[in-house]
Amino acid sequence: MRKKEREICDPKEMESIIDRACVCRLAMCDECAPYVVPLCFGYEKGALYFHSATEGRKLEILKKNPRVSFEMDIDWEIVRSGDHCNMRYRSVIGFGNASFVEALEDRRHSLDLIMRHYQQEPFVYPQDTLKRTAIIKVEIEEMTGKAYGY
Ligand SMILES: Cc1cc2nc3c(=O)[nH]c(=O)nc-3n(C[C@H](O)[C@H](O)[C@H](O)COP(=O)(O)OP(=O)(O)OC[C@H]3O[C@@H](n4cnc5c(N)ncnc54)[C@H](O)[C@@H]3O)c2cc1C
Repeated sequence: MRKKEREICDPKEMESIIDRACVCRLAMCDECAPYVVPLCFGYEKGALYFHSATEGRKLEILKKNPRVSFEMDIDWEIVRSGDHCNMRYRSVIGFGNASFVEALEDRRHSLDLIMRHYQQEPFVYPQDTLKRTAIIKVEIEEMTGKAYGY
């Protein structure tokens, strides 16, 4: 990171950004073209979980190329003083590999993690919802954190 004083090195602090983030932006690589989608997510033990329809552009890309990057941010606020105007924030950016969760019980657990993230647990999933939902797991391999203005 170019500005070292802004770097968050404590893994617990990075996890707390993930815990408090509402949306994860998942970036993929479609041949040579980037593709990014905002998604709801859950988190457990160094992995992110996403739910999705079983079709669509992101799934087609992930089947061909599981390498992903992601970004989440919190605490953004415009701070204006004198001739300065800045956005303060806390954020994480990471990299990892995506895979599809197949076993029914693992899929249910992944959905529970997503519901937990949004304080919507407990939740009973209709059987056909479980069947019609793709679950993407991203094992985080590398992550950096940054805080500006805090
Ligand atoms: C706050 C938020 C939370 C979301 N949470 C989830 C979630 O948990 N799970 C989930 O599956 N989806 C979620 N979505 C929707 C998600 O961003 C995608 O639209 C969706 O997953 C379909 O992606 P796809 O690649 O299959 O698109 P497709 O349906 O295949 O559409 C392909 C084309 O549509 C356009 N497109 C796709 N998504 C968007 C978008 N969000 N905005 C503008 N243009 C778009 C792109 O140009 C793309 O080329 C969320 C969106 C927002 C804003």
